[in-house]
Order: sequence, then structure tokens, then C-alpha cells
Amino acid sequence: MHSSPLNSQNLVIVISGPSGGGKSTVAQVLCENDDTLRLSISATTRKARPDEIDGENYHFLTKFEFEENIKNNYFIEWAKYREHYYGTPKSEIDVSRKEGKDTVLEIDVNGALQIKKQHLTPANSILIFLIPSTYDILEKRLRGRNTESEDELKNRLEIAKTELQLIAQYDYCVVNPEDDVEQAVYQIRNIISAERLRINPEQTTTFLQNFGLPI
Ligand code: 5GP
Repeated sequence: MHSSPLNSQNLVIVISGPSGGGKSTVAQVLCENDDTLRLSISATTRKARPDEIDGENYHFLTKFEFEENIKNNYFIEWAKYREHYYGTPKSEIDVSRKEGKDTVLEIDVNGALQIKKQHLTPANSILIFLIPSTYDILEKRLRGRNTESEDELKNRLEIAKTELQLIAQYDYCVVNPEDDVEQAVYQIRNIISAERLRINPEQTTTFLQNFGLPI
């Protein structure tokens, strides 16, 4: 990667949007074969689904553990989604920074907006809203995963409607078509490439000094 001291370093790429929009698959495919990106592992108090592994999909915590972590300022953001807690440990960003990688967060809309409000120096955050082409596809995807009860599913669809109303607060919107994950991943890669070249105003002083120019 050829970047200058002027460019944004340590990006925090937030992939967010309604549950059932395909965020986890897109985030996984995006990070799979890219050693410049690191997918953050969130903590949650919800129960693991049969195919989920502790420490790989999530760090599964008890409510007590999670609340202790909130008190200890352990999370960069956290939110309650339905009756469970979800949060991003600050250490996830630190590890990426040490490895010289950008961090990808796959989180809900509440969490994304908390990230946006923070000043992550020297990191920079980008908010990407991932949406399915239609509401029907969202419902079909949620039903197809077969992991939720009918009540839970209806609740997730209701939450999706409120989440979609916050789309204007995001930087980018990417449509995740039903049968083409690669297309969404390709578009997100393009966003990341452009963002890596964005001028970071805080770096301009050093840059001008290095060129022997007055500041
Ligand atoms: P699920 O139960 O389907 O795994 O996740 C429910 C919602 O919580 C999804 O929208 C998912 O993106 C979101 N989520 C997962 N991890 C985090 C996190 O660390 N913080 C926040 N705010 N939301 C998260």
C-alpha cells in the first residue's frame, strides 16, 4: 500500500444496517483474503447459535460480565439490541493498529452512530450502510437463516424499519443483492481504497514541515 503521511491511517470501517441485510457474510468475505483488514470480534450476552464458536464469532459473556466491562470503560461502543448487550472492545482497534491494519466492525445502527460521534485519532471512521435490494429480501433472508423464533423475527423486522430511517447519518450506502455478495464486497473495497487516500487535516503540519514549507 502506497500512502503518504497525509493520508488517513488506521481506518475503522463500520458495516452496519438491519439484521438480515447480510452484514456478517459481506464482512467475512471482505476480510478473508485481505491482510490489510482485520475483522473485529464483538462481545455479546446473547446465547451462541449452534454453529457459533466463542472467541470466533463473538465473545459470549454473561450479563454480569458485560455490565462490569461497561463500568470499566472496556468498550468503544455498546448497545442493547432486543434484550441483549452487544459491544466492541477497545482492544480490537488497538490490536489492528499494532498490526498496521484497518479494522472492520459489523455492528448495529446504534453502535455505528456512537462510533461516528467519537474522535478516534489517529484512526478515522467510515460508516457504510448495507441494505438488501428490497424489504421482502430482508424478510426472506431472516427467515432463511432459521435461527429465530417467529416473534423474534417479527421484532427484528420492526427494528429494521427504525434503523433504515437513520440512513442519512451514514457516509455510504451499499446494496447487497440477494445472490451476489461479491458485488457488495467489490463496492466496499472501492470505498476503502478512496478513504485511504483521503487527506487527514491533522497530518498536514508534519507534511508541510517535511517539505520545508511554512505552516
Ligand atoms: P445477531 O444477534 O444477529 O448476531 O446480532 C444482532 C445485531 O447486533 C446485528 O445487527 C449485529 O450487527 C449487531 N452487533 C453485533 N456486534 C455488535 C457490536 O459489537 N456492537 C453493536 N452495537 N452491535 C453489534
